[in-house]
Amino acid sequence: MVSQPTSTQGPFLEVALSLPISRNFYYQSDPQRWGHLLPGQRVLVPFQNRKLTGFVVKTLEQLPPDFPKETVRQVIDLLDEMPLISEDLFRLSEWAADYYFAGLGEVLKACLPPKSHVQSRRQVQITLAGLDACAHPDQLGALSAEARNMLYRLAERRVLKWSQITREGTISCRAAEKLVRLGWAESRQKLAHAAGQRTQLSVALTASIQERTALESLTDAQLRVLAALTSNESPVLAADLQKQCRVSLSTLRVLERKGVVRLTEQSISRDPFLALPAHEGPAIRSLTTEQEEALRLIRNHSTRLEYFPVLLHGVTGSGKTEIYLNLIEEKLRQGQDSLILMPEIGLTPRIAAEFRARLGETVAILHSALGEGERRDEWWRIRSGQAKVAVGTRSAIFAPLSNLGLIIVDEEHDPSYKQQERPRYHARDLALVLGKMRKAVVVLGSATPAIETCYNAHEGKYSLAQLSQRVHSRPLPSVKLVDMRLDFQESSRHSILSQELRQAIQVRLERKEQVLILLNRRGFSAFVLCRSCGETFQCRNCSISLAYHRGKNCLLCHYCGFQQKPPKQCGRCGSEYLYYLGEGTEKVETLFSKAFPQARIARLDRDTASRKNAHSRILHEVQSGQVDILVGTQMISKGHDFPNVTLVGVLLADHSLSLPDFRSAERTYQLLSQMSGRAGRGQLAGEVLIQTFAPEHYCLKFVAQHDYKGFYQKELRFRQFMHYPPFASLACILVRDRNLDEALRIVQALGQIVDQQTDTTFRVLGPTQSPLARLKQQYRFQILIKSKSRSKLREILKRSLKEGEARGIDLRKVSVDIDPVSVM
Ligand code: ADP
Ligand code: ZN
Ligand code: ZN
Repeated sequence: MVSQPTSTQGPFLEVALSLPISRNFYYQSDPQRWGHLLPGQRVLVPFQNRKLTGFVVKTLEQLPPDFPKETVRQVIDLLDEMPLISEDLFRLSEWAADYYFAGLGEVLKACLPPKSHVQSRRQVQITLAGLDACAHPDQLGALSAEARNMLYRLAERRVLKWSQITREGTISCRAAEKLVRLGWAESRQKLAHAAGQRTQLSVALTASIQERTALESLTDAQLRVLAALTSNESPVLAADLQKQCRVSLSTLRVLERKGVVRLTEQSISRDPFLALPAHEGPAIRSLTTEQEEALRLIRNHSTRLEYFPVLLHGVTGSGKTEIYLNLIEEKLRQGQDSLILMPEIGLTPRIAAEFRARLGETVAILHSALGEGERRDEWWRIRSGQAKVAVGTRSAIFAPLSNLGLIIVDEEHDPSYKQQERPRYHARDLALVLGKMRKAVVVLGSATPAIETCYNAHEGKYSLAQLSQRVHSRPLPSVKLVDMRLDFQESSRHSILSQELRQAIQVRLERKEQVLILLNRRGFSAFVLCRSCGETFQCRNCSISLAYHRGKNCLLCHYCGFQQKPPKQCGRCGSEYLYYLGEGTEKVETLFSKAFPQARIARLDRDTASRKNAHSRILHEVQSGQVDILVGTQMISKGHDFPNVTLVGVLLADHSLSLPDFRSAERTYQLLSQMSGRAGRGQLAGEVLIQTFAPEHYCLKFVAQHDYKGFYQKELRFRQFMHYPPFASLACILVRDRNLDEALRIVQALGQIVDQQTDTTFRVLGPTQSPLARLKQQYRFQILIKSKSRSKLREILKRSLKEGEARGIDLRKVSVDIDPVSVM
């Protein structure tokens, strides 16, 4: 390191960098320039030979004893006058970083709007002398053709990025360097700040134009701009001016360089609700008795301004959203903000529309299907207090609400609340932590709560509010298991569509009612098999079979996106007899249009929903009765409310039951109940047919009886017997590397260390190959550790990683997943 040894007097700053590193760094501050800095303020600091954005953690008079004084370097710049991150969110981030073995900077980054990070970029910019030279071509005689070209490009574009020039090759680099030596261009470090809102450029005349510019040196185009500006008083939008004067942006930039005009950026907001379907407007409803009761229970506590966690366990169609809305309205009256988390709000536009219709402008919406600019605007509307209600997906847990009084986690059991990459936090669990810090009400809503959540409610950790009836006492749909083994015996042919389901669909078509068909598998066929030698076609990067997609006519990996042309023959034995096996949604759509030629059939899965607005268009077509049968993956199970759907068919329930994960029964129960909940939501009664080869499985039996409690009790006994949550805490150490030997070496070394650290109160499973043994070219191994004591578990993990690092293990190849939602 080449840093100058600075005077090693305080004050020093502890700084969190947004790197995947679980430790902070120290820098020297300059209090004369910046005063006392607060936690969460961003600073620009040198790190190795880069400049990075960091977050101030705290100010120190002394460096910690183990930090070598000689290496401490100066902060380069202060990036925020005031911290953008509130004290609450800072504390929440500290908690999350510690609990989930993540870097504090990684978590703090999630508290900012997208693309807020300052990067230093080198670029070349034209100088005034350079512009003059352009105007006098006789001066350019000594330049090479490349350098002259470069100068013209700079005059047009004002700046060019070094990265681009370098990409173009050495000739371009030399040309640029030549211009810099001549003083016609300058090379600068440019910092790209992008924390702000979306902006548009406005143009105004500078005060000192007369003294600074000889007007005769201006071109016609430039004079037109000048004339237009003189006849306007206030600043003019650059876009308007360009149109009016028929000039390009670079003309304005040149005038700016000459000191004639000033360009400033103004913020504007986009409204993400513009894209939402129109909603009929706020309906004033009288609540059902059960809704009243649940509300009363929560309200009694919510006035005390204490931490109050409550599980709202309500069957599908029981009107949970109505309760949420009432609670939010009450908090607004009390002057408090509310945060509503939903698993995939992008998939259920009706819910966002309903919130907006009831609560108006005060609702901001945050989810990943919005563009970056939209998300940034919404972030600022919350941050500035314009919006007091934030509705969003997992990462909205970090929304900058200032006076939070209520947090709602809808469908709290949904695994998408857990982030599957660093930082691996669980938003529902963070909601509880934040609620405790803020003394807020936390409502966990679900028809099928996670086993752990239900357990906590029964243990008295959360209060419990229940809605056991659908609104207007509409019955829950009747659910029937269709035994596919019998269907095969009777019809003596193998079909994905049983006789029974076929008839039920036929009846619905005659009655002009709608049908939803769930098959949780995309594509046309799940895999391709060689009939001669048994070879299957695997992804080049993953240990996964490639699925055949007929629409795209390719074999596709659903994990990494790898594609190849469908093979003509087997790669191993050369045989041309290839089987395409395992139906996916695409195939079902085709089969159904043959079986029901008169029906209008649509498909909703990741392939059909990927085009912009396609997803909401398909939902709209179902809503407005233009579709008779909707075939789809679990995307169609999410909170849709189609009153004319009276039949739900599940084609293959066994698929998700057989996954090698201790939660596969729980997940299946949740998916099937959620799916069943889509039937019979209107005046007409609903029916659900679930096709399976294992109708005796307890999970399916309880689904058919709408018996969550029965399922819960049975599942709980299994968890206790097998030492799984809620009776044990889980952590998974995952080792990934492209090199098989390296991954093996690391996981074996870690396995040894973990063995030494743990005693008989722990259960260690592994090291083993992960069920998904290879993904995206990386080999994967894991060690699953269970312990009754969460704190002891975290303790040994910390020690094991430290020991591993001391033995030279590269921790970037190791990740720790605390409370994993999937052990695959
Ligand atoms: P959940 O989320 O519990 O499945 P929803 O909140 O989607 O249920 O409500 C189901 C349906 O009942 C929705 O169409 C909703 O508008 C309607 N609804 C909710 N509460 C009432 C009420 N008190 N009176 C009439 N309709 C209601
Ligand atoms: Zn073969
Ligand atoms: Zn792959």
